[in-house]
Amino acid sequence: MSPASLDPQSVKGFLSPEEGAALEAAARACAPLGPIVEIGSYCGRSTLYLGAGARAGGGVVLAVDHHRGSPENQPGQPFHDPALWDRAAGAMDSLPALRAALRQAGLEDVVLPLVGDAATAARVWRGEAGLVFLDGGHSLAQALADWRLWGPRVALGGVLAIHDVFPDPRAGGRPPYEILQRALASGLFEDEGGPGSLRRLRRLG
Ligand code: MG
Repeated sequence: MSPASLDPQSVKGFLSPEEGAALEAAARACAPLGPIVEIGSYCGRSTLYLGAGARAGGGVVLAVDHHRGSPENQPGQPFHDPALWDRAAGAMDSLPALRAALRQAGLEDVVLPLVGDAATAARVWRGEAGLVFLDGGHSLAQALADWRLWGPRVALGGVLAIHDVFPDPRAGGRPPYEILQRALASGLFEDEGGPGSLRRLRRLG
């Protein structure tokens, strides 16, 4: 049972209820190990699940996103949402949606949004994370950079979670699957499975 007063599924996003419940449970269990780090918040659906789990586990969430949208969110692309267009900036802006979701869910004291790209965020905070959720840009270059910078930050016994993992290339883009393969080949993690297109990896001690 989530303590949040807002159903995360009412927030725009691409995470199923089953995937969200798994993220919430993992965040709750991992919160004592260190901050929960989310790479790619968009409008905050996954952030609400992570925030509810972090609150229950006595932890906090660092929610990293530049809020200008991934390539697939840009005008003319399949996941573009005109309601998120900032006319003055001439760019996407999902930050107001995230702030509204956090306020309505009562999670503003648990979730710390960090507005900027994941590589810059990695330079300003170098600690260990209880859980890292990778759901940022899905180009191969971006996915690889996020894995390289954030994967090794997971504390021993913590969880690396990756979204949009599709082993069959006909079901979706491959970069999240590619970084899953690299994480497993690193020898640092043990595969704990789904659900859905979510994969959870446990950092071995
Ligand atoms: Mg995703």
